[in-house]
Amino acid sequence: MSERQNLLRHLPAVDRVLREEVLQTLADQLSADILTEAVQQHIDWLRCQLLDGGASALSGAALEPAAVANAAADSCRALLKPSLRKVINATGTLLHTNLGRAPLAPQALRAINDVAGGYSTLEMDMSNGKRGERYSHVEGLLCRLTGAEAALVVNNNAGAVLLALSALGRDREAIVSRGELVEIGGAFRIPEVMEAGGVHLREVGSTNRTHLHDYARAIGEQTAILLKVHTSNFRIVGFTGEVSSAELVELGREHRLIVMEDLGSGLLIDLSSFGLAAEPTVGEVVHSGVDVVTFSADKLLGGPQAGIIVGRKDLIRKIAQHPLARALRIDKLTLAALEATLRLYLQPQRALSEIPVLTMFAADPQQQKSRCEALLQRLQEEGAAADVELVEDISRVGGGAMPQTELPDWALAIRPRQGSVSVLATRLRDYSPALIARIRDDALLVNLRAVFVADDYLLAQLLLAALAGEELC
Ligand SMILES: *Cc1c(COP(=O)(O)O)cnc(C)c1O
Repeated sequence: MSERQNLLRHLPAVDRVLREEVLQTLADQLSADILTEAVQQHIDWLRCQLLDGGASALSGAALEPAAVANAAADSCRALLKPSLRKVINATGTLLHTNLGRAPLAPQALRAINDVAGGYSTLEMDMSNGKRGERYSHVEGLLCRLTGAEAALVVNNNAGAVLLALSALGRDREAIVSRGELVEIGGAFRIPEVMEAGGVHLREVGSTNRTHLHDYARAIGEQTAILLKVHTSNFRIVGFTGEVSSAELVELGREHRLIVMEDLGSGLLIDLSSFGLAAEPTVGEVVHSGVDVVTFSADKLLGGPQAGIIVGRKDLIRKIAQHPLARALRIDKLTLAALEATLRLYLQPQRALSEIPVLTMFAADPQQQKSRCEALLQRLQEEGAAADVELVEDISRVGGGAMPQTELPDWALAIRPRQGSVSVLATRLRDYSPALIARIRDDALLVNLRAVFVADDYLLAQLLLAALAGEELC
């Protein structure tokens, strides 16, 4: 008998492996089927190795029941590790769509906690115990904060635009400037959303310049909507011209057309005192007379993922009655977080101090520098195996909001003495929490703008562990 046959014969039985303690302890968390399958798969893999590579491929020790059990347990543990997990965002981008955009304020977290595990007043009118409106929890707040007559919230802003267009312009035309036919990340393209909403697109003007008379000339029998779209993540500079909301409103009134504006990142308070280039607040746009305004709740507003629609009462009612409104409806956890976030805006100073993206946005660069210096000192004291340098950096708002806004900032450039910077970055991504930073000039660039001060210590621990080559933590 060849050695290979001998080894094949020594492959352990599944039942025997399942009795190993390492798998018995996992039985609390995983079903017997899952454990059996993991063992079976590993034995099958061993068999293939033996058949392909012969005896030299494996040692007899790998066939011991305990070794097979350990390997199966490893793959089982991977099933128990959360895939969606916490990240420390050291990229310097406040609203990183891939990292979940806005972190929530503590008040929003408490609100979620209060309604998540039990029952709530979601759709009950507590004055008479009858069926109520889920939107009622935020409509009053939104009207107060924006000056609008009515408001509605849905799953996200892309949904808000789709819903509003479908409800108000189906089978008719919406006129849009060619300079605003944008694609926002995640394949949200205005022309495609319009098509999906059954609205015919009537493009006017040119990429860099559109005049009021371009809109006026395009108005015809089929026109229902004059649509203005915030260009969000891109800017046209140089010889440019666009029509203001107020001018569109005047034209819309003249022709009895609906004027709609997709603002993208809706600002509820003026941030220009923090060096933000003139960006209108939702209130200003509503005040200018725009009939329907849509924006995201998880961009600079700093709330949960949601799409907000504010505007004229008759139009909001029509939108709320459209069948798509039901398909796009907001869930109770989001609603709880949104209501709590909006309530903070009743006292703007409070919003600025409690809503994480606003606090981070307004952070003083000098303070950021001190935090970086403290981190630098800590890494050096702990003997981090890296060359670490304090460098100037630029932070950004991100999330398709205010592309030109650059926040002067500081960062640490970390160059590991052993191994490459990309290996270091990969290791940090594997951790829980994971640490995400940019790579520039062969250095890991750790920017603290979007890192909670409370996480500074943990961030240092993660860096030290990764620089020491520890694979998991
Ligand atoms: C971000 C953005 C959207 C999409 O909003 P979501 O909330 O991500 O669905 C739509 N329009 C504009 C102008 C945006 O900036």
